[in-house]
Amino acid sequence: MSGASASRVTHVGEITVVALPDGAADLPGWPMAAELANNDPVDWPSYAERNPGGFHGPEHQWRIHNTCFAVISGGETTLVDCGVGAGPYPWYAGLRGELPASMAAAGLAPEDIGRVFLTHAHPDHVGWTFDEERGAPRFPSARYVLHRRDWAEFAGRSPVPKHFTRFVAPLERAGVLDLLDGERDVAPGVTAIETPGHTPGHMSLIIRSRGDGMVISGDVLNSPMYVSEPGRPFGPDLDQETAVRTRVALVERIEAEGWRVAAAHFPEPGFGAVVRVEGKRWFAAL
Ligand SMILES: [Zn+2]
Ligand SMILES: [Zn+2]
Repeated sequence: MSGASASRVTHVGEITVVALPDGAADLPGWPMAAELANNDPVDWPSYAERNPGGFHGPEHQWRIHNTCFAVISGGETTLVDCGVGAGPYPWYAGLRGELPASMAAAGLAPEDIGRVFLTHAHPDHVGWTFDEERGAPRFPSARYVLHRRDWAEFAGRSPVPKHFTRFVAPLERAGVLDLLDGERDVAPGVTAIETPGHTPGHMSLIIRSRGDGMVISGDVLNSPMYVSEPGRPFGPDLDQETAVRTRVALVERIEAEGWRVAAAHFPEPGFGAVVRVEGKRWFAAL
C-alpha cells in the first residue's frame, strides 16, 4: 500500500478495514436541510473547522464524500456498499464514481470480493453492483446482501425507481442476492444490525475483534454534526422519527462501547472516534 493511501487502511483487532472512496461532490443547497427541520440553528463553522474537507463555501455547504469499505476478516473480503457507479450521478453534481480505481489502488480485484453488503438500496450505495455492459454482476464471486424490507420498499414502488431496476433487481435475477432481516453475523467478526429510519431496511455493521470495535454506520450518520447532535432530523430520512431514534441509540452505543466509526459520507477515509470535549460529543477523524 503506498503512502498516499496508507490512511485508507485501519485494523480492528485482526480484521482489516479499507476505505475505498467513490468520489465527492459539493452540494450547493446543503446543509440547509437539517436547519429547516429544526428552528435551532446549527453551528456549522465549528463542524467545518474540525472536519476539513467535509464542507465548502461561505455557508459551510456540504461536500458529500461517498466511501465504500472493504472488510477483510477470516480470509474473506466483504465490500460494504457500491457507490454511485459510472454516473454521471445527477444528485451529486454529476459525479462519476471512482470505486474501481480505489479498489485497484488497494490491490483488490473484483473477483476478490466474496460478499457485497448493501447498507440500503439508495442509488448512491448500489451504483457499482451490476455491470450493464456485460449483463452480469460486477463482482463475479460475490453473494450480495440487502435487507428484506429495503427490497420490499423499492421493488414495491410504482414506478420502481430506475436505479433499483438497473442495479438491484438484476442481482435477484442472477440468483446472487440474499435478503436478510434481524441481527446476524455476515462474516467472521462482522455483525449486521438493523438501523431503520433512513430506509425501512437500513443496516449497519459492527466489526469486533480482540476487544476492538468499529461501526460502519451507513446513512445513519451523514455529517460529523450528527455525532454531536444525533437528535437532529435529516431531511432525506424516509421515517424521520424512527431515524432519529436509531441515530441517538447508535451514537450512544458507539460511545459507550468505545468503538470507532467508519462513515461513508464524511471526509475520506471516514474513520474516526467519538470523543468528549467539555461535555460535548464530537467526531474526531483518525
Ligand atoms: Zn441513503
Ligand atoms: Zn448515502
